[in-house]
Amino acid sequence: MEYNYALKIRQEWGDKPCDHPRLEKVYYAGAFLTNYACVQCGAEFTIYEKLEMDEARKNP
Ligand SMILES: [Zn+2]
Repeated sequence: MEYNYALKIRQEWGDKPCDHPRLEKVYYAGAFLTNYACVQCGAEFTIYEKLEMDEARKNP
């Protein structure tokens, strides 16, 4: 998703809890950043945090 869009979601979501059901790659001005953002709350994660999250979900 677009970086600005992630920011907008984050502002609208506020401080509500989120279990981050889906992360999408963030891009800015057409270039991919290395970060991911939650489609629900807009929180940003590094690729390492995303990998850890994927692993944690595979092995509950
Ligand atoms: Zn989230």
